[in-house]
Amino acid sequence: MRIGRRRPGDRDHRRVLHEFSRALALIVDQDKLHGTIITQLRSALSLDRVLLYLRDDDDGPYRLAAARMSDGQDIDGQGPHVSFARNGRLVRWLRVNEEPLLLDSEPGVVAFLDAPERAALEDLGITACVPLVAMNRLTGFLLVTPEQGHPRWPSHAQRDLLLAMAGQAALGCENAALTAEQRSRVRRMYQAERLATAGELAAGAAHEIRNPLTSIRSAIQYIRGDYQEGSDRHELAGDILAEVDRIDEIVQGLLSFARREAPGFEEVELAELVRQSTCLIRTRARTQGVDVVAATPDTLPVQADPGLLRQVLLNVMLNALQAMPDGGELRVSAERAGRQVRLQVADTGDGISREHLDRVFDPFFTTKKTGTGLGLSICYGIVERHGGRMELESEPGAGAVVTIRIPERQRP
Ligand code: ADP
Repeated sequence: MRIGRRRPGDRDHRRVLHEFSRALALIVDQDKLHGTIITQLRSALSLDRVLLYLRDDDDGPYRLAAARMSDGQDIDGQGPHVSFARNGRLVRWLRVNEEPLLLDSEPGVVAFLDAPERAALEDLGITACVPLVAMNRLTGFLLVTPEQGHPRWPSHAQRDLLLAMAGQAALGCENAALTAEQRSRVRRMYQAERLATAGELAAGAAHEIRNPLTSIRSAIQYIRGDYQEGSDRHELAGDILAEVDRIDEIVQGLLSFARREAPGFEEVELAELVRQSTCLIRTRARTQGVDVVAATPDTLPVQADPGLLRQVLLNVMLNALQAMPDGGELRVSAERAGRQVRLQVADTGDGISREHLDRVFDPFFTTKKTGTGLGLSICYGIVERHGGRMELESEPGAGAVVTIRIPERQRP
């Protein structure tokens, strides 16, 4: 056995590493985990700024997951540094070399980077890019800058510690991502089962209700004709008809929830669909004092059923408007994310409480006086039949974001 010479600070570093791995093992919440990684790296390695980038999904770019600077100043959530392309030169270099890229000592590599990447690194005053490798793949990377007064950063010992912490951070992030994926899979299975059972019930009930309802409607209409317009009884019959119509609306909803028709796929210009749908709700939004912002590339073709997709988009936008009775901002964005397209509808409304959040896709779950609670469960089914996923994130009081991902092309 070879006994190496112990460097000054070795024991400290072992303690730091031990505490770091314990902290990572205890945290499963991804946001908390990212925050902890950054905080501990900064204090262990005298860093001024740390930005953590992680793979968005299997096909997507590496996106900014968390960032911090010493003066507490936030790093802007917009700009060229927000994401780095998966097939970009920085990511490729880190993937192949699996070692930190020290920008000052590697001018040749810096010159090889894509121009926007170089600009982003310069903008942020970055000193080193550190790959996070776990299970043989590039989970993410860190962009770091030491505090002022550390001109020869990193020393050998700091470099070793940085690499060891990066290795642990990579494993921690992979682990947390796997746990989150597992949870979401279980939730989706549970959701699918509930939807299928409710769908069968709904179809049966809707069918049974429809026929008597039609008879009731015609009978009331007939009786109403016997009373003079403006009389109490004429009005009463009118009220009954309005209630019958409301039942009919619910039954219609039930039927479209149960129908689960197969989408008719065709080439759809999603950017255009977003423009048209936002136009449709603009007048109503204006009367409520809601600004509608649509952010899409000029063109975003996708294979989908245009009618069903429009139905989903309108439903989600109307929910967002209903959540902002006193004004706000409704932002609809669409972009390509690898082989998928991602559609997001974000509002600045009331948001949803924790206990309600898990139930929003359940059929008949509603918090509205005249809601049917079928809108989101119908949308969920439609997105699923497109081979996609639909999620709703929200903090009470801080609005809601609905994210819809569907494959760009349907499998033949
Ligand atoms: P409904 O609109 O008839 O209530 P949905 O299925 O469309 O049915 O929505 C279910 C519930 O989800 C709503 O009642 C509301 O509580 C919640 N919800 C949906 N979208 C939002 C949103 N953007 N902000 C806040 N709550 C929402």
